[in-house]
Amino acid sequence: MQAYDSTNIFAKILRKEIPATVIHETACSLAFHDAFPKAPLHALVIPKGAYTDLHDFCKNASDTEITDFWHAVDHVITDLNLVESGCRLISNSGANGGQEVPHFHVHICGGTKLGPMLVK
Ligand code: AMP
Repeated sequence: MQAYDSTNIFAKILRKEIPATVIHETACSLAFHDAFPKAPLHALVIPKGAYTDLHDFCKNASDTEITDFWHAVDHVITDLNLVESGCRLISNSGANGGQEVPHFHVHICGGTKLGPMLVK
C-alpha cells in the first residue's frame, strides 16, 4: 500500500490551506461539495484521519472513526434530499480504480437519473 501523501488536496482542505464548500462536519469526518461536479449534486465525504483508501481506512481507523464516517455519509444524503430520489456512492481506489486524490473519500452523486454504472 502506498504511503499517505500529506500534500494531497484533501489534506490541504482539512488543514484549511485551501477552501471548500462544507456541507457537514463531525469530530472525525468532513463533507463538502465536489469542485468539479459530475452530477447536479456531487458531494465528497472524507475522514479527518490520514487514510489513503477504503482498505487503509477499514484496516487502520478506529471503530469510532468508521462509525462517524458512515453516519456522516448518511447525514449528507439526508441533507441533500437524496433519500427518496436515490443516489450513487462511489469510492475510487488505486490506479485501476482511477483514484486521483489519495485520501480516502466517498462520492455522493444524485439530483438526476444517473446513467449506467460504468462507461468504458
Ligand atoms: P477521485 O478521482 O475519486 O480521487 O476523486 C477526486 C475528486 O476530487 C474529483 O471528483 C474532483 O473533482 C474533486 N476535487 C479535486 N479538487 C477539489 C477541490 N479543491 N475541492 C473539492 N473537490 C475537489
